[in-house]
Amino acid sequence: MARPTQAFINLSALTHNLAIVRHYVPRSRIMAVIKADAYGHGLLHVASALNTVDGFALLELEAAINLREAGFCQPILLLEGFFTPQELTLFEQYQLSAVIHHNEQVSMLTQSKHRQLDLYLKINTGMNRLGLTPEQFIYAINTLKQHQCANSITLMTHFASADENIEKESIVRQLQSFTTATQGLTHSCSLANSAAIIRYPETHTDWVRPGIMLYGASPFADQTAEQLNLKPVMTLSSKIIATQELKSGDKVGYHGLFEADNPMRIGIVACGYADGYPRHAPTNTPVLINNQRSRILGRISMDMLTVDLTHIQNAGINSPVVLWGEGVSVDEVAQHAGTANYELLCALAPRVEKIALSQ
Ligand SMILES: *Cc1c(COP(=O)(O)O)cnc(C)c1O
Repeated sequence: MARPTQAFINLSALTHNLAIVRHYVPRSRIMAVIKADAYGHGLLHVASALNTVDGFALLELEAAINLREAGFCQPILLLEGFFTPQELTLFEQYQLSAVIHHNEQVSMLTQSKHRQLDLYLKINTGMNRLGLTPEQFIYAINTLKQHQCANSITLMTHFASADENIEKESIVRQLQSFTTATQGLTHSCSLANSAAIIRYPETHTDWVRPGIMLYGASPFADQTAEQLNLKPVMTLSSKIIATQELKSGDKVGYHGLFEADNPMRIGIVACGYADGYPRHAPTNTPVLINNQRSRILGRISMDMLTVDLTHIQNAGINSPVVLWGEGVSVDEVAQHAGTANYELLCALAPRVEKIALSQ
């Protein structure tokens, strides 16, 4: 039998979450964000389950070409655009849309013969990561129009408060900068990520770009996925492959980080940080064993971790364990490990088998 560490990908949860997005944005078109192998869930089965969306967004050229070759005919937007002039041939050949966030990219276009692209001009409205300043933006849009470098131009920006408690003030400020920079222009716009979709209807405009909420995780620290009626898409599961009886004073794992203060029974689970489970998850991080809640004990190893079985008498070798997903949310595990749900989903290791389920 193969090692029992598997990630189940629930495709009906994915379509459920898409329906929730639609509920929030009845008048906008939806560009599903499937970067980083669909946030670790597997590009092609996720794209197939989401095939009713109006577009896809990612930033890996090879993955975009795979999508086209698999027959997807929606717009496919590359969120960091192109990096070299040579790539423009592929952008045109596969009809890929490009974010333009820097005037170097404008120069590459004006000097290229591949000009029939749908372009998204990204304005920096305060995040200071990618994007044109309002002055650079005016230069870019005028130059692109003058040289007839685009099939279409959409205006976009990205909000800084996505994985933290959104500060209304910063959203309002960024929205204001965007409105000022684009005054008088009638192009389509794209602004909102998951957090803005849920909390800021004024940001919805023509296109929204949901990521994390499609996968059934919460973009907020103060609201759970369940409260948002989102269903977890990925369930990372494994089994108990050994048990041990501890006496009071016995220690567990590397560095003996956990010490039993009473006799207890523990289980060893075939999942570790080389599978994508966070090494920083401390004692008391929740897990599900035989559908009952328990907790991590001591240090996470490369290939294994330890759980408390003291109160789960019926658990033993081969008992099923859920690390995150149905019954214990990835949000909770991330919070315990001091990281973000985004990171845990994306970090699922290639050696973990992904199994797509339609029910
Ligand atoms: C990743 C990303 C998104 C999706 O963000 P979520 O918080 O996952 O909804 C949207 N827009 C851009 C530009 C992104 O890079």
